Amino acid sequence: MSVLRSSVLICAVLNVVLLSSACGGQSPEPQGAPTGNAGGETARLRVVTTVSPITSIVENIGGTRISLEGVVPEGVNSHTFEPAPSVAALISQADLIFLNGLFLEEPTLEMARANLKSGGMIVRLGGQTITREEWKFDFSFPEADGQPNPHLWPDPILALRYAELVRDHLAASDPDNAEHYSTNYDAFAARIATLDAAIRTAIPTIPVENRRLLTYHDSWAYFADRYGLTVVGAIQPSDFSEPSAKEVADLIRQIRTEGIPAVFGSAVFPSDVMQTIAAESGAAYVDELSDDDLPGLPGDPYHSYLGLAVTNLRVMIPALGGDASALDQVDVSPVFDGVSDAVYVQ
Ligand SMILES: [Zn+2]
Repeated sequence: MSVLRSSVLICAVLNVVLLSSACGGQSPEPQGAPTGNAGGETARLRVVTTVSPITSIVENIGGTRISLEGVVPEGVNSHTFEPAPSVAALISQADLIFLNGLFLEEPTLEMARANLKSGGMIVRLGGQTITREEWKFDFSFPEADGQPNPHLWPDPILALRYAELVRDHLAASDPDNAEHYSTNYDAFAARIATLDAAIRTAIPTIPVENRRLLTYHDSWAYFADRYGLTVVGAIQPSDFSEPSAKEVADLIRQIRTEGIPAVFGSAVFPSDVMQTIAAESGAAYVDELSDDDLPGLPGDPYHSYLGLAVTNLRVMIPALGGDASALDQVDVSPVFDGVSDAVYVQ
């Protein structure tokens, strides 16, 4: 009896240690049993995600009925991220693991495959959202490397497809709460429709000659294609190093020649090169975009997928000479009632 109790205690302590380690010590404590949870606390699906925009999409659909943790810390380069060994313990308990795929999180995918529990499922959202024929290769993702630009989520319509896949997989794994997931999806889809309409109102206010994007991180390919912008370049090389002196000189020449109004950077990829390029070319330097993580910190009103979209466009559209006020119509708060226990690792 006492041996059994000791074992249980050790397991509990190990769980706490492993979870604390995986959460970076800054995660919100899991909430108590969600009210109205038909399945009860013990029945909640355990869901693991990777980058925080995907975590937020899953949080919106899963609401209070799932246990959710993202493993790619915000503020790190998600393309080169390698999960700590402690993440394997989290993955080994997961019922569902949602990744972007399209080669974004290969080390995490490898760990997921190696540690997947019996009955667990890995869902790569990107590959079920676009076909191989729709893959985009460009500046930081050249076709010669064979890996497409994986940034589908900045395009809200593709993000909605992610949400649809999440709804279907959550419902299949947890039919008791299918209605909750479906209701949340419908509410999220309505928000995306409002966002899409706002973007279609705001983009035409940008002078035609300014509808060109030059960014540091190459994350706007699918968005730009949908909304009539042209990505004229991305500064970050395909190996995520800094560009060569010749590449910098070429970019400066291109910006001057083409009259590109602004160059955009993001907080997660600080670069002195950006400032040099802007200063030498005369373009405005705006370094406030977010790509693979959410703006602000967990708990902030704009720390959400919808907040990411609105914040980016409020930065981007005025810098190109347009009016972003249509984005004021978008409600960025969670679509479900109550408080989720989603963990965003910082
Ligand atoms: Zn990225």
